[in-house]
Amino acid sequence: QVRLRFAPSPTGALHIGGVRTALYNYLFAKKMGGTFILRIEDTDRKRFVAEAEDYINEALAWLGLTPDEGVVEGGEYGPYRQSDRKAIYAKYAQQLLDSGYAYYAFDTAEELDAIRKEEPNFKYGAESRMKLRNSLTLSQEEVDQLVASGDYVVRILLPAEEEIVFEDMIRGVVRYNSRDMDDKVLYKGSEQMPTYHLANIVDDYLMKISHVVRGEEWLPSTPLHVMLYRYLGWEESRPAFAHLPLILKPKGNGKLSKRDAAKFEMPVFPLDFEQEGQEKIKGFREWGFAPAPVLNFLALLGWHPEGDREMFSLEELVEAFDIEKVSKSGARFDFEKARWFSQQYLIATENKVLAEELQRILSSQGKDYSLAYLEAVAGMLKERVYFLSEMPVVGQYFFAAPNYEETLANEAKNLKKKVLKKWTAERAELFAQLPELLTASDAAGIKTAITSFMEANSLGFGDLLPFLRFALSGTMKGPDVFEMAALLGAEENKNRIQAFMA
Ligand code: GLU
Repeated sequence: QVRLRFAPSPTGALHIGGVRTALYNYLFAKKMGGTFILRIEDTDRKRFVAEAEDYINEALAWLGLTPDEGVVEGGEYGPYRQSDRKAIYAKYAQQLLDSGYAYYAFDTAEELDAIRKEEPNFKYGAESRMKLRNSLTLSQEEVDQLVASGDYVVRILLPAEEEIVFEDMIRGVVRYNSRDMDDKVLYKGSEQMPTYHLANIVDDYLMKISHVVRGEEWLPSTPLHVMLYRYLGWEESRPAFAHLPLILKPKGNGKLSKRDAAKFEMPVFPLDFEQEGQEKIKGFREWGFAPAPVLNFLALLGWHPEGDREMFSLEELVEAFDIEKVSKSGARFDFEKARWFSQQYLIATENKVLAEELQRILSSQGKDYSLAYLEAVAGMLKERVYFLSEMPVVGQYFFAAPNYEETLANEAKNLKKKVLKKWTAERAELFAQLPELLTASDAAGIKTAITSFMEANSLGFGDLLPFLRFALSGTMKGPDVFEMAALLGAEENKNRIQAFMA
């Protein structure tokens, strides 16, 4: 039975790294016909953010990565929120103490800080533990007293020097030595709360997790986890590990610009508290990304299917995904690539579907357009924008007559260079005749009429069409001018040409 979990700590918004971890867990679980579980790891009360759990649920729902089991979905192995499982962890902390694999320690944070100041490489371990204040050095009486006061932590007792070897599905054989590791805290008496390490292992075991897929930053914790499985007597059912490569900063030398950093650290959508007192942080959703291109983009950040194919729906990703093909080296974040995916999705989406979405956006701005009209607009604009939400802006001339004065100022350079110097009285006279030629309801009809008019007057396309484009749209670039004219219609064409000439 393949069972994977995404186990975020509710400390803030989900950013690309977290979403990619969720996605890879999802893909692998689904690929194997297994179960995708969401577990909320909220034992670190200092970093806890109350809104974050709802945020995580909402973000996964938006992305379409719906858990099979979780806080919301329920399931046989619940509760799925660690703060609701405190009694369970206390029991296993006790088991470790009873079996001598863990011990009580009473050193205060100040004491430890003072030591670290003297000895930057200090480790709480075989060499130092016998000189510190813990149940290995104090009398039973003292220990009982301190434990009763609740002022204690439980630490794992690591072997002095032992090679800890495990297999990682992405990295192969990984080796650590316990001499380089800390007797990490497993449980905090003052809060009656486990730390991440204990809770994570207990839950992975009890929830029958078969594979742990997580970010590379957890690799150094894994030997500790391996020891915990051994000490708890669960080695047989230890999950397989796969540590995902880091997501690297966008290209560029040194420090990221503010703008690049904002993209690199982009959340799925903003979490309210992030907006306080700072510029509003945009998420993928606010940028205008649809979920599918985000998932497609993230899937390829560290994994490559065979061949050059890049476009995959979520179902296709499930089909193609292979965890063993995830790369060991970091994957560089490239926002342009993310935008490219967004655009590819627009191009691949039926105009009818885009029109519906466009209609929603416009009607929220109090503008009412028919689906047929918007379908044509979407078809003309989708290769010219990265996001659907840009269409009303990039193609504003489909929704309002151009403001020539304003756009002239923007386009002046272009116009002067290419167009205005050809604008003679004679041309103007010819131009004034155009409305009569722009009456056909299809682009081909309009094109024929214009072409014969130009031939009759010995003109080339470049002599009149740039003016026409500008008159109709107020810009110098855009979709096919005949298509544009056909969609705007005879009446609107005439009005705009007259307004332009006025
Ligand atoms: N709660 C950890 C995190 O926030 C989970 C790490 C793991 O998957 O073991 O990333």
